[in-house]
Amino acid sequence: MSEATGSMLGRRQWLAATAATLVVAFDPVRGVWLSRAQAHDGAVSVPDLDGELVFEPAALEEAADDFGHIVHDRPWAVLRARSSTDVQRMVRFVFEQRVFQQRRANHHGLTICMRGQAHSTHGQAQAAGGVVIDSRGLDQIASVGPHGARVGPGVRWLDLLSASLEQGLTPPVLTDFIELSVGGTLSVGGIGGATQHHGLQADNVLELEVVTGRGQLVTCSPRRRRALFESVLGGLGQLAIIVSATIRLIPAPSNARVYQLFYTDLARFTRDQRRALRDGRFDYLEGQVLPQPDGSYQFLLEAAAYYTPPELPDDAALLAGLEPIEGATLVDEHSYFDWQNRLAPLVEALRANGAWGLPHPWINVFLPARGADAFIQNVLDELRPEDTGGGPILCYPFRRSRLSRPFVAIPDADVVVIFGLLRFAAPEPALVDALVAQNRALFESARDLGGKRYAIGSVPFSLADWAEHFGERFPAFAALKARFDPGGVLTPGQHIFPRSDSP
Ligand SMILES: Cc1cc2nc3c(=O)[nH]c(=O)nc-3n(C[C@H](O)[C@H](O)[C@H](O)COP(=O)(O)OP(=O)(O)OC[C@H]3O[C@@H](n4cnc5c(N)ncnc54)[C@H](O)[C@@H]3O)c2cc1C
Repeated sequence: MSEATGSMLGRRQWLAATAATLVVAFDPVRGVWLSRAQAHDGAVSVPDLDGELVFEPAALEEAADDFGHIVHDRPWAVLRARSSTDVQRMVRFVFEQRVFQQRRANHHGLTICMRGQAHSTHGQAQAAGGVVIDSRGLDQIASVGPHGARVGPGVRWLDLLSASLEQGLTPPVLTDFIELSVGGTLSVGGIGGATQHHGLQADNVLELEVVTGRGQLVTCSPRRRRALFESVLGGLGQLAIIVSATIRLIPAPSNARVYQLFYTDLARFTRDQRRALRDGRFDYLEGQVLPQPDGSYQFLLEAAAYYTPPELPDDAALLAGLEPIEGATLVDEHSYFDWQNRLAPLVEALRANGAWGLPHPWINVFLPARGADAFIQNVLDELRPEDTGGGPILCYPFRRSRLSRPFVAIPDADVVVIFGLLRFAAPEPALVDALVAQNRALFESARDLGGKRYAIGSVPFSLADWAEHFGERFPAFAALKARFDPGGVLTPGQHIFPRSDSP
């Protein structure tokens, strides 16, 4: 066979590799996979693997899709990894063929990236013509205790939370939806209602094991190879692939008392959010804009106080000085787990009715608090119902000083607001294109205010945009890229360091 389509390679098959039809090598000159019979001197051997290297069309199509359903970059192969060694061997393989390619200056360099739950929306976890590593098999929770939880990159936060709660512990920060992979959110940041106190998920990591773009397995932490550690967290998969993470854990409460405060006035809503942020009275602080049937908007300040009886939250103290619509405040009780997993029933319903599979041209921007209200008001003035398709509009503040990772780009302001249009679009290419163009325009207005984009959404970005995104830290980021991923093989779907041979 000339190409490996339809084949699947695993350890047992390799050990029994008598069949001349099995793929054993990649020809970097012609850009084709080779069977044993076809392998020749210039070809790079495919490594022995614990997992499976898959070429089936269905697997390639899955890897060429994500939650956005907008970008479809088809890889050459998917590695269903079963061990860190698989990741290391495959990255080294891709790096070696890249070095070969650079020597020959031909045009078939492979790239490689890890795919978590693929909940980014614009091809960030895709690798056109490259290898996508599916991390779902790297889902071991190796240990959980007061000193942290050591987990594989494919572990979902939901599973980590379940395991840690058995020991009365919890990760300090959880995203709103917790079926995201640890490796995925640590690579982008991971923000939630506890960010106001604890920073991003990427700020709550004690140690990492990573595979660099050279295929080297490296352990890093605040004490060992600190620069690499800090840069991989929120580093958008550019410097290394996370194969294990030790996550900080804190004592878990048993209950969450949830407060929903409604407003008709944007300024009053954001003032109360910032008041609550300032004194840190709530454990969780978020907010949403709620479009009304008559075209107006309400605003929801959503907050939670965590506790373990017999201790109880003091409602009067928590609500003191806040000025929502009188008589409309809702107070609800949940177990801590149910609260953190609150989106599960909604997501199940969206999966059942097909909305989960619609295009999601999302945008999230970080805005300096000064100027944020005017920006948000402008966006809301222009927004039509079909622009969000009923998807949530997020809006909540946090303090920049709680965040510490150098390459998570955040506006230079004490208080920062995340504003997001989590759109659900009808599957019409013209509409989706228009919404992506709207995202671009919205990003530009945010940028002009000193805002930054959260790199999980659907905003076309040029190299110049990335340079501006990282600002004065861009040369340092580029230098780390050159050091840890000299072949430029890692995570091409972010399009930060385009290669001359990019498809
Ligand atoms: C319903 C929903 C709710 C969400 N809520 C939140 C929220 O509250 N807060 C928030 O911050 N985000 C939220 N997100 C966005 C989410 O954090 C990002 O989309 C994140 O990337 C998801 O993780 P994932 O496992 O799907 O990563 P993927 O989309 O698979 O990957 C994201 C990026 O990280 C890279 N990557 C993945 N694994 C690794 C690894 N092990 N090593 C190196 N690079 C890797 C990928 O190549 C890709 O570039 C939400 C998304 C959805 C769909």
